[in-house]
This record gives sequence, C-alpha cells and structure tokens, in this order.
Amino acid sequence: GTLMPPLGNDAIGQGAWVLVVLHDITQQHKLETMRKDFVANVSHELRTPLSVIMGYVETLVDAHRTIPEETREQFLLKIQRHTQRLNSLLDDLLSLSRLESEAPNAGGAGSVRERVDLAKLISGVVEDYRGRPAVLEGRFRLCSELIDCGPPAATEGTAPSASVLAESGADAGLYVLGDALQLTRALENLIDNALKYTPSGSEICVSARRVAAAVGADEAEPMDARRLASREVVEVRVRDDGPGIPAEDLPHIFERFYRVDKGRSRAQGGTGLGLSIVKHIVQLHGGRVWARARDEVAGQGTAIYFTLPMA
Ligand code: ADP
Repeated sequence: GTLMPPLGNDAIGQGAWVLVVLHDITQQHKLETMRKDFVANVSHELRTPLSVIMGYVETLVDAHRTIPEETREQFLLKIQRHTQRLNSLLDDLLSLSRLESEAPNAGGAGSVRERVDLAKLISGVVEDYRGRPAVLEGRFRLCSELIDCGPPAATEGTAPSASVLAESGADAGLYVLGDALQLTRALENLIDNALKYTPSGSEICVSARRVAAAVGADEAEPMDARRLASREVVEVRVRDDGPGIPAEDLPHIFERFYRVDKGRSRAQGGTGLGLSIVKHIVQLHGGRVWARARDEVAGQGTAIYFTLPMA
C-alpha cells in the first residue's frame, strides 16, 4: 500500500489522505498457477501407482481361485513394487514440505546447526556405497577425492596432499555449519542418481575442494547467502560418465517432478523430487547448486556441483 498526499486542496476534507493499495497481481497469479500445477502433479503421481495396485487387487479378489500360482505371485510382486513407489513418493513429498517450511539460514538449516566435517561425511557416505551390491559386484566404480582441502598453510611446502590427509584420517579442515543428516541425504540423492542413470561399468566420483567463491555470483540469491559466498566455500562435485543430461534439460532438472525421461525415471524408482530436495537442502545451508555436462562438447556424463559456506 502507498500513502498518497491529498488530491488537490481539501479534496476529501481537511488533511485527508488517500490510501492506494497496489497488489502485485502478476506475482500472485504466478504463485497460484504454481500451486495448482503442483497439486495436479502430485495427484497424477499418486494416481498412477494407485490404479495399478487397484487393478491387481481387484483381479485377485475376483478371480484368485482361477489364477495360476505363478501369475498370482507376479501380481503380488507388482503390488509390492507400486506400494514402495507410493511410499517413496510420500517420503519425498514430506521431506520437501518440511524443507520448504524452514527459513533459509546461512548458518545451517532449521533447528540443527552443528559443525559438520564434510570430508568425514563424504568418506562415510562413499564407504557405505562401497558395501552396496552394485558396487561390490563391480558394476560401478566409486571414487572420492579431496582436493586442496588442508588448511591453507598445510597445502604449501612439504605438507602431505589433501587426499593423503583424508585417507590417514587427519583433519582435512572442511567444516561447514548445518545439519549432517540433511547434507548426507543431499549427497546420497546425487550418488543414487548417478547409479540410476548410468550403465554398468561407469565410474562415479565424489570430490570436494575449498574455493574462494565469487561475490554475488548469483544475483537471485538472498543477500545473506551472497555475503557469505564472498568467504571461502566448499565445492562438492558428484560426477559420472553416463549418458548425461541434454543441454536444454539442464536448467530444469532441479524443478519438482522434472524428468528427462519419465519412463526411465519411474522404472528406476525415481520420484522426480530428488534434485529439488538437494536444491532445498543446499539453499537452506546458504549454498548454491548447479549441473553441467561433464563433457560439454559431446554432452556426455553428468556433474552436479554444490557449494556450502565454510564454518
Ligand atoms: P528422479 O527421481 O526422477 O531421479 P531427480 O529430481 O533426482 O528425479 O532427477 C531429475 C531428472 O534428472 C531425472 O529424472 C533424470 O532424467 C535426470 N538426471 C538426474 N541425475 C542424472 C544423472 N546422473 N545422469 C543422467 N540423468 C540424470
């Protein structure tokens, strides 16, 4: 609203002011459209597995005596798979709505603000994945590297390299403020995607390094995040050598329910929400997230980056 001076002399009476209320209708309209789209998307995502489940359950109820044992088992497995899909969808929706209700807080997300050793967190997560069947059976190679992560003085002269530091369990000095559980979740979502969308025999590499972030690198960011970005940040990268994401899709992949290939994503158990959860977690921690083709020329391989302000 804006207070306007009286229109002419005593237009409405002695000392009268006219209150002009200007609503930003375009912005409101945009938000309303986004909300409607979201509700429509959620309904659609829920309806698909639900109608599959209902179909099989109805068939089983109506004709379970005449269905051969083997077919019955197949039906039950399909019901199980689609129930799991509903479950992950609801889990992701709940996480997203919780994250969205938290205020951006550069010093860490929501109520949890602990000092997190990112080097340790990454090694822990990568170690966990090394125990997974896909990696144990040699279908994927998983590597992690910490580049120039030592405290500034330690990277000069004869000091051991950062990866040596990390492997020997020494302090790699990659501290951020925030919620370790959320940061673990973000990293896992990125590694899960690399596992989901790259063929057997691929290499997935997680790396972290400290960099001096450019000031105001992203004008769309809140002032707090920009001010913090002028300090040192940790840049985390999850890279794979899979088929990659087409250049025209890259700017959209962090949107809710955006998928390059819907069928592929669903078949892999994707909800279309993984990367928006990552984006929210990173932004709540005052960081930035972006994606690039690993090989920009051939459009091959995917690299997802995020930064976090150092504690
Ligand atoms: P989903 O649950 O479908 O994986 P995400 O939000 O995690 O949803 O990812 C959005 C889309 O981005 C995916 O459906 C997929 O098409 C694409 N994508 C994400 N990560 C990769 C990757 N590492 N390689 C190729 N495509 C990817």
